[in-house]
Amino acid sequence: MSQNSAATNTRQISHYDVLQVANDATVEEIRKAYQTLALQFHPDKRKNDPDSERFIRIDGAWKVLRDEQSRRVYDAELMQRSCEDEYFVNEILTKADFDRNHEDGYNYHACRCGGYYVLPDEPIIEKIYVGCDECSLVVQVNPS
Ligand SMILES: [Zn+2]
Repeated sequence: MSQNSAATNTRQISHYDVLQVANDATVEEIRKAYQTLALQFHPDKRKNDPDSERFIRIDGAWKVLRDEQSRRVYDAELMQRSCEDEYFVNEILTKADFDRNHEDGYNYHACRCGGYYVLPDEPIIEKIYVGCDECSLVVQVNPS
């Protein structure tokens, strides 16, 4: 499953996701969410829990979001990330949407720029991203 891993786009969990609050939550709402989760996941209370990373993430998220300035910087990063996601994924396809080149054993799909998205002739186990060979557009290919 290592093919195309360079192009695989794993969406990161945001600090808001970690604290289970809306992106426009007030500091007070975030503080309450943090206090609840921090109590629940504090390492002192969960000695046998292998997921101590969870508390570190909760604590890290709170440290960024409690401060107006660092939250603003973080929001700008999040915004940029989501814009990039929307810009890059041009179409969502399955392998059935590709035409097959029998001679050379690969699959291709025409991009609107005149270039091609080329898919190796291998089973798709999890969704992958394929870039156009001519422009910067990307299609998402789901397992069929
Ligand atoms: Zn293209």
